[in-house]
Amino acid sequence: VSRYGNGIVSGKSYPAFNVNLVRNDFPILAEQVNGKPLIWLDNAATTQKPKQVIERLNYFYEHENSNIHRAAHELAARSTDAYEGARQKVQRFINARSPNEIVFVRGTTEAINLVASSWGDEFLQQGDEIILTHLEHHANIVPWQLLAQKKGLKIRVIPVDDDGQILLDEYARLLNPRTKLVSFTLVSNALGTITPAKQIVDMAHAAGAKVLADGAQSVSHIRTDVQDLDADWFVFSGHKVFGPTGIGVLYGKEDLLNSTQPYQGGGNMIQDVTFEHTQFHKAPARFEAGTGNIADAVGLGAAIDYVQKIGIDHIYQYEHYLLEYASQKLARIPGLRPIGTARDKTSVLSFVLDGFTTGQVGEALSREGIAVRSGHHCAQPILRRFGVEATVRPSLAFYNTCAEIDTLVYAIEKLKSSGR
Ligand code: PLP
Repeated sequence: VSRYGNGIVSGKSYPAFNVNLVRNDFPILAEQVNGKPLIWLDNAATTQKPKQVIERLNYFYEHENSNIHRAAHELAARSTDAYEGARQKVQRFINARSPNEIVFVRGTTEAINLVASSWGDEFLQQGDEIILTHLEHHANIVPWQLLAQKKGLKIRVIPVDDDGQILLDEYARLLNPRTKLVSFTLVSNALGTITPAKQIVDMAHAAGAKVLADGAQSVSHIRTDVQDLDADWFVFSGHKVFGPTGIGVLYGKEDLLNSTQPYQGGGNMIQDVTFEHTQFHKAPARFEAGTGNIADAVGLGAAIDYVQKIGIDHIYQYEHYLLEYASQKLARIPGLRPIGTARDKTSVLSFVLDGFTTGQVGEALSREGIAVRSGHHCAQPILRRFGVEATVRPSLAFYNTCAEIDTLVYAIEKLKSSGR
């Protein structure tokens, strides 16, 4: 039994999880904002960091800092071990077959751009088609648009129903022999919809297309198993899974990575260079040109250790409970319209409030110490599908509590009654 076992959630007995114990690990949760205790409900934008991650970063800079070139000297060996150890932690966390399938990048955005600029540029041709879903974050739209303009590709979009779930029948109709890629999110950052990922992947493969799965919003909430999912690439950002900013992961099937031309050239990624010819390393080094973000990769490894110690399935269950609690409470507020009501959802509670702009709601909540995002969440197409340009978006993590949700509801009601 982990030390997080047998805890209590907001006065309710909850078998597998002690939220108060967990909260002690996150120093920033003790912060005061505008004279009120911080309530961090902006987890879809970025997550807070446990002291285990902060201390690991300190330890790296105090005891291990070096560039990674194992043979050179003792500190180089330490930093290389720490960096490659983090790669193995990621491998186990997402159940990849080999650490060679784990490429460290800056984040989800860079990972998608990497695939578009390397594989996409090399293998896609005029007239080929890419399928996206209406739910996508701009990071999974714009790189494909840039590529489409350059190569003469066509982008097709899977529509969603009125709850914000993608329509698999429509998807089936869009697939055709020209479809070369399907790129989709596992969880919508704007609505929280959990997409039917396995079906999306299987249908794409049956049509002969490759698949990129955007795990930016799923990794911190739902167990990842890239072998089971079988997507050709899976991408995520460290900062959304309690790790540092500036580090993220591109998983790719090993053969595919090795048969794709590199994204950037430089040091680390070569086996041999002459002025006439360069021989590249195999993956992952092939895609890690130059000095990477070594310390933050190590910090991401510590974040993954932390998540695994609690247990991603415990996290999922607890957050599901919290999401239900919050959804019911918010639904009782007159004039509050939830955006995104799919049955399969996680973590995100987007809404608009009659008579107030999303900015006004965000500011009022901030005065109460509550951090939520108000805006378009870098997902304008899906918000416009619901007739809005912006929403207020509280988003949950496992360190949030029912008491915090109660404060959120109280703050919204206070705004409504005071008019400001
Ligand atoms: N994809 C989704 C679904 C996201 O939610 C985000 C960030 O909000 C991204 C991609 C981009 O992530 P990053 O800004 O860390 O590169």
